[in-house]
Amino acid sequence: MAVPVDGKTNGPGIVWPGRKRVAVMVTFDFDAEFLRISRAKSKGTGIGFTDYSRGQYGPHTGIYRCLDMLDTLGVKATFFVPGAVVETYREQVEEIHRRGHELAYHGYLHESVRGISREEETANMEKAEALLESVTGRRPVGHRGPESIIHPFTPELLTERGYLYSSSMKDCDYAYLWEKDGRTLPLVELPGDITMDDFTYYYFTFSDPAVRSMYTNREVYGNWKAEFDGLAEEGDKIFVLKLHPQMIGRASRIAMVGELIAYMKGHGAWIATCEEVARYVLEQEWEKNGEQDSPGKGGALK
Ligand SMILES: [Zn+2]
Repeated sequence: MAVPVDGKTNGPGIVWPGRKRVAVMVTFDFDAEFLRISRAKSKGTGIGFTDYSRGQYGPHTGIYRCLDMLDTLGVKATFFVPGAVVETYREQVEEIHRRGHELAYHGYLHESVRGISREEETANMEKAEALLESVTGRRPVGHRGPESIIHPFTPELLTERGYLYSSSMKDCDYAYLWEKDGRTLPLVELPGDITMDDFTYYYFTFSDPAVRSMYTNREVYGNWKAEFDGLAEEGDKIFVLKLHPQMIGRASRIAMVGELIAYMKGHGAWIATCEEVARYVLEQEWEKNGEQDSPGKGGALK
């Protein structure tokens, strides 16, 4: 699972479409109550009745503010959706698709456990992929591990299942291609960081006394804007904003995110879905290698 950082991949030095300064992906983990259920399970704790309702704020209210904000700004986003959320909140998931956003894989029950077998994970993927396909009519091409947990076999498994990208790692600020046994896989990694994750600033629960924090929206805006400005200055980087409708979907917070996206649009951002960015990165790789094949058609990268 070596990460190529030697400049052979389309990470450092990439030129974005229209010579934009930075590729920005607005992403949402639409977890509903399954975020807190799986988190409590992995931490060996339980969750209270109102913790469920905190999660349910996402599908009941937050998601609609997120979608309206995106429509207002004319931005398409990527939503990572567990299979169980498709089963429980199908109407909301259909609405996300209807408004033109990308749906991608995020576990079946938002399983945030380490050490599961390849067979178990394959079964989760089969179930969740079928549910997403029942909404969109096509298989998902993107993957984010619940709580960003992926397994040693995940990159190769994703390649075998026709995925174009993963977005779970935190190891750099640019898109890169995975390697396995010295071979480059046709799988793009779109790394993020907790710096650009609303969970870091807004996750709150009474069930875990260690997690009772809350930042002001101005502080969060300041952090995100400064991170964006720095990456835009460097020129070949990506900025993956990771949001949860149950946290960011509050009236004051969604207004802040809208303000940030408007700022980024005006300051050199190429705002695209994760799929669009992954396809672009793969196309650059194919061109560099002189391949005639195009991404997604199964051509092997050198
Ligand atoms: Zn999640």
